[in-house]
Amino acid sequence: MSHFVVVGAGQAGSSLVAKLREKGFDGQVTLIGDEAAPPYQRPPLSKAYLLGDMPRDRLFLRPEAYYAERDITLRTGAEVTGIDPNAKTLTVGGETIGYDQLALTTGSLPRRLPDAIGGALDGVHYVRTLADVDRMEPEFKAGRHVLIVGGGYIGLEAAAVAAKQGLTVTLVEMADRILQRVAAPETSAFFRDLHASHGVTICEGVGLTRLTGEGRVGGAELTDGTVLNVDFVIAGTGILPDTRLAEAAGLTCDNGIATDEQGRTSDANIWAAGDCASFPHNGGRLRLESVPNAIDMAECVALNMMGEAKTYVPEPWFWSDQYDVKLQIAGLNTGYDRVVIRHAGEDLSHWYFAGDKLLAVDAMNDARAFMVAKRLLAAGKSPDPMAVADPATELKTLLR
Ligand code: FAD
Repeated sequence: MSHFVVVGAGQAGSSLVAKLREKGFDGQVTLIGDEAAPPYQRPPLSKAYLLGDMPRDRLFLRPEAYYAERDITLRTGAEVTGIDPNAKTLTVGGETIGYDQLALTTGSLPRRLPDAIGGALDGVHYVRTLADVDRMEPEFKAGRHVLIVGGGYIGLEAAAVAAKQGLTVTLVEMADRILQRVAAPETSAFFRDLHASHGVTICEGVGLTRLTGEGRVGGAELTDGTVLNVDFVIAGTGILPDTRLAEAAGLTCDNGIATDEQGRTSDANIWAAGDCASFPHNGGRLRLESVPNAIDMAECVALNMMGEAKTYVPEPWFWSDQYDVKLQIAGLNTGYDRVVIRHAGEDLSHWYFAGDKLLAVDAMNDARAFMVAKRLLAAGKSPDPMAVADPATELKTLLR
């Protein structure tokens, strides 16, 4: 009987094994993860779960019984420490397991603040795993001062939760503006104003020089010379694809584990999907860090492990929740040369164009703009930018 093994029991890993069974794969399936918990969703870790608005059991992607019921062997708390692609085996806890096909869904690792600048002090936190958040949760007490390093989505979402809970929040962003890597100045400005209205201090163009304290963090020195007293620190300084196993096994890596358009790595029997994988796109390589990509790529890889030879075509979208604003993003804005702002009553959306071609849309509490944009992008259609900007335009007419 064929044995398919999946390493990394997160969003992609769980989706992959589910798809194998849904499509009738009747061989042996093993899903191995090094975290203690069964596969869970990460987005609430910096949103509802951190705020205390979501119970722990709602985080899990599937009930634990799901795996056993489908004859999927789920091994949690088990780190795979090596792969031998020639022997088609992997090592976990001193045990050697054979595979016929292997998928790597190892996700990503947060960039850590270097020890040399105080990164190893107690009270320095990351928001990647359930264990990270459970460790950090007791720090969230009204009146305390949290320093957030990094003005990307994770840092901003953590800032919103902390501000809502009555903490004093300072966020530093080394780049000229928050969300610089992912959004237009207009979107950065919207979220800067939103946070300011909730009392969060955002310092842009300011980095962290070092954290200070004896054993535990108590202060921070910033690149503009500011010295702060802080009770704890959250680093939201980006992530790196977890390619450690793949590299050690000699697989080609290029901003992630490099796959072909079907998700196959440089070894014919090993596949990759999710945050850890980069795949061919528009003549280059793309790696996405999002739930929709983790699910869609993993499901495509599942079919290909079963022999379908399906090309993975991503339809990128993303979301972020901050205070009472839901940001929904359709598409990828890379290469945009202008942003068209649509403000229709309460609805606000920013439309990214390269020439006349629509690339992406940021919709702030505007689900309709998001849905229309997603459909336009999927169909490869670009609306007239003038019509987009006109609040009198009924959005649905753009689809015609
Ligand atoms: P992961 O879910 O990270 O799973 C990888 C798993 O593999 C991990 O459990 C890891 O420990 C395990 N692993 C690694 N190496 C080994 C090994 N050697 N042996 C065994 N196990 C191993 N995306 C959105 O689209 N919208 C959001 O709003 C959003 N919010 C987010 C908020 C937070 C706080 C975080 C952390 C992420 C957020 N994301 C969001 C991103 C999204 O969660 C990820 O893109 C998604 O989880 C990627 O899935 P994955 O399966 O590739 O990786």
